Amino acid sequence: MLLPLKYYGDPVLRKRGERVEDLSPAVEQLIEDMFETMAEYNGIGLAAQQVGEALQLTVLDIRPVEDRPSTLKIGGREEEPDSIMPLVLINPEVKPLADAVPGGEGCLSFPEMSAEIDRPERVSVKAMDGGGEPLEFECGGLLARAIQHETDHLNGILFIDRMDRATKADLQEQLDALRAKTLAALA
Ligand code: ZN
Repeated sequence: MLLPLKYYGDPVLRKRGERVEDLSPAVEQLIEDMFETMAEYNGIGLAAQQVGEALQLTVLDIRPVEDRPSTLKIGGREEEPDSIMPLVLINPEVKPLADAVPGGEGCLSFPEMSAEIDRPERVSVKAMDGGGEPLEFECGGLLARAIQHETDHLNGILFIDRMDRATKADLQEQLDALRAKTLAALA
């Protein structure tokens, strides 16, 4: 089922997600619906907050993007990043392994906006997967960026919080308009 997206200005986007302790049928359905919704809007990542649920749950699938490479290491071995797609991360813990580098990002909660954001180029990830199993890996490139963007959502952090002042100033008019539209729809 397609879920309605939550846009900038909706207070749920600022909520820290609660931990998901077990994969109830409701959570499994939510995961399925999030994948369907993400694909419909051509996203490569979607956090539960973006469909109105403040949970530590995000789904990703970077396969549609072919021109931005990723790396993956599991148990110290290089693996094909596609091998863990589609990816469900529950209660993820993400730690930086490298210096920050700039890279372009968009967000389904901010239609038509994109910006360069600095983020660590490589990270380690510990989480529960969509089957309720523990998952641990290191990744770099686009996958690392997407995971950091989504994990931020789970903590109520948005990519505008990571923009430098000039970038945000350039988008301010669009941001104000989107926020006003969202608030009007909620009222
Ligand atoms: Zn986003």
